[in-house]
Amino acid sequence: LMGYVGFANLPNQVHRKSVRKGFQFTVMVVGESGLGKSTLVNTLFDTPLYPPKEPLAPNAERPQTVAIESISADIEENGVRLRLTVVDTPGFGDFVNNDDSWKPIVENIESRFDSYLEQENRVNRLKIVDNRVHACLYFIQPTGHALKPLDIEFMRRLHTKVNLIPIIAKADTLTDDEVAEFKARILADIAYHNIHIFQAPTYENEDEETIAEAEEIASKIPFAVVGSDKVVWAPDGRQVRGRSYPWGVIEVDNEEHCDFVKLRQMLVRTYMEELREYTNDVLYENWRTEKLLSMGV
Ligand code: GDP
Ligand code: MG
Repeated sequence: LMGYVGFANLPNQVHRKSVRKGFQFTVMVVGESGLGKSTLVNTLFDTPLYPPKEPLAPNAERPQTVAIESISADIEENGVRLRLTVVDTPGFGDFVNNDDSWKPIVENIESRFDSYLEQENRVNRLKIVDNRVHACLYFIQPTGHALKPLDIEFMRRLHTKVNLIPIIAKADTLTDDEVAEFKARILADIAYHNIHIFQAPTYENEDEETIAEAEEIASKIPFAVVGSDKVVWAPDGRQVRGRSYPWGVIEVDNEEHCDFVKLRQMLVRTYMEELREYTNDVLYENWRTEKLLSMGV
């Protein structure tokens, strides 16, 4: 299980196309500070992308992310190579005035579009490096209430520029019923505010298994996740990635415990190609058109 990502299982045709073109996939994490973004990034890609520069003391705090950091890893699976980049962003919400905290994040996304456009305009376009953000995981505090005004502001700034995937952070702090209710409430808020989140496309000409998998994933949004980069002992003696509490262990990779597995499956298996396509064909294209119009081209 460790190190297994799953992108080598993409449908064959897609797979061959991607291998030929070279595989670049970028995920960004956004949300208030302390919601477990950096931890989830580690959990997602298993191999710690943040090797501690010096050995941490046993109870050392995870350093707070202070700047937008982009970390890449080349992952190989069944002979398929993927350059995976994660853009970790500093948390916001720590200040009395958070009005413009979305700005550096939107600017980062746009500068990646800029860099792509600049490469497209070169004479030699054979070696385009695609650093555009293909998916943005938006972390929601597990309050059990509603979206905060700051969340709504952020999502509205982001939704025309990235595939937004909402996530309930630290889902181990809510009961199953609370998670279900909170999910419904979040989706209602998102609809009310006309926020566009990534829509998992439904397939028609696919086998039943593929359709069932797609529907299952769609039904989990917003994913309720638990992050941990620690291996702990489960009561039955298994070693699992999870969080250990006086009353038991929450397993990251157990679908009965949280939606982490489904989230990863969506990102790197089921919908990677769709996320890339939508970014290129719709989000980037709209941005490009607007940019050229504003320049009077
Ligand atoms: P960030 O500021 O969003 O990057 O948050 P960090 O990843 O630095 O985590 C902040 C704190 O929350 C750390 O003490 C983590 O151990 C803890 N944490 C991370 N993920 C979870 C989770 O899923 N559940 C719980 N209960 N705590 C978590
Ligand atoms: Mg962080």
